[in-house]
Amino acid sequence: MGEMAIELTGGCACGAVRYRIEREPIFVNNCHCRLCQRQTGSTSVVNAFYEFDAIEQLSGDTLQQTVKAGSGGDHVIVRCSACGTALWSHYARLGTLGAGVRAGTLDEPGSLRPDAAIFVASRMPWVTLPEGIPHFDTSYDPSQLLPPERMARLRR
Ligand SMILES: [Zn+2]
Ligand SMILES: [Zn+2]
Repeated sequence: MGEMAIELTGGCACGAVRYRIEREPIFVNNCHCRLCQRQTGSTSVVNAFYEFDAIEQLSGDTLQQTVKAGSGGDHVIVRCSACGTALWSHYARLGTLGAGVRAGTLDEPGSLRPDAAIFVASRMPWVTLPEGIPHFDTSYDPSQLLPPERMARLRR
């Protein structure tokens, strides 16, 4: 079976940073944890996880900020150096090869569907959980949700 042709493009709010991804994500999380709420100032964040080399930065300059992830490890946020928009993150627990792209920075943010809503125990009380997307009070075991070929990419 050939790979499905996919091209996602995105960028920061000021337009300086543009990026392209030509790959299906390994998995997509809609995270309602307190850290994501605080770091985004919003109800939750949608992160699409890829091998780091999947992200092709086309323009602009980025800077990196290191904060703590919910797991206690380092979480490096990559931002546009001009406008500060957070574009993607590296998580220590995923190793140096993984990156979580903030789906809200995609030109078509609705083109990725979350595999799971996580940390819903701390969601804002008026947030309704989507039908048909599994949700978990905290985290989950990806091997229970992901098809084998995506698990293989996760293990690499
Ligand atoms: Zn910018
Ligand atoms: Zn979170």
